[in-house]
Amino acid sequence: MSAFDSFPLGRPAFVTDILDRAAHLRGHDDKLIALVGNPASRAYVVHRDSLVVKRENGASRALLSIDEALKFGANPGTIFLGLRDGAAVFGMGISQTAAEKLINREDVAVTELRGMAMQGIVPSGELSAIAMAKSLVTWHQRHGYCANCGTRTAMKEGGWKRDCPNCKAEHFPRTDPVVIMLVTSGENCLLGRQKQFPTGMYSCLAGFVEAAETIEDAVRREIREESGIDCTDVGYYMTQPWPYPSSLMIGCTARALNEDIVVDRTELEDARWFTRDEARLMLTRQHPEGLAGPHPFAIAHHLVGRWVHGEGA
Ligand SMILES: [Zn+2]
Repeated sequence: MSAFDSFPLGRPAFVTDILDRAAHLRGHDDKLIALVGNPASRAYVVHRDSLVVKRENGASRALLSIDEALKFGANPGTIFLGLRDGAAVFGMGISQTAAEKLINREDVAVTELRGMAMQGIVPSGELSAIAMAKSLVTWHQRHGYCANCGTRTAMKEGGWKRDCPNCKAEHFPRTDPVVIMLVTSGENCLLGRQKQFPTGMYSCLAGFVEAAETIEDAVRREIREESGIDCTDVGYYMTQPWPYPSSLMIGCTARALNEDIVVDRTELEDARWFTRDEARLMLTRQHPEGLAGPHPFAIAHHLVGRWVHGEGA
């Protein structure tokens, strides 16, 4: 299956939530403990940007039984993600030491999630639940102490909260909003590239929404800062959860008021205008100069793709 089939237009990675989050169960420790012990329950085991998968019959299986996860060395702390077909699904972390012990095994792999998703090794329908596991496991690893008083906090609500036993502060998993936008000027669109992008790849400009800033202002500010272009008519397209570690990409469009690009070289290696035809060839990897657009895995591909097909902006 090609990446275009896995992520058809309007359906980038991480947007199809197959789980019933069943938030009403989070406050019931007794029910959650029973679900962890239920043989029908399953878990995704994440290690940094990678996923622990079982290899069997020439395929990879991401959803492990709790027993398999524990035998692979996953940490016993489980995060309740929700229900799938009535069975509980949990997220679990694994230590560096335990993950290293799996490297030479033939029946298990610890593989970088993005690469697996791009190659279709993990079914696209599972990516949202895996993203949830990845964001929450990372949050617990990074927020073990109270930001208010420094005391060790305790996991509550099936992993959707941490409480401080000293100052009683409640801590909740964070989601960081990021604007990502396709700026157009008539038949041209503005794309840029960062130094770390693969050779020849251009994508939409993006940046974090700042404190007390509207999405519209963030779009205009980021475009002006990175390219010197002033924008108007900011529109909304769709969002994409981006678990690196816990962003929400807010896909927008905007219309440029000028065309003289001044690239901010600390942020971007280059930014250019591309015609609609060029953008189409970049998305399908047929550009005569070998230039490429963003992968269908990412929302940027869908922002450009929609415009290429005559919609948006
Ligand atoms: Zn505290």
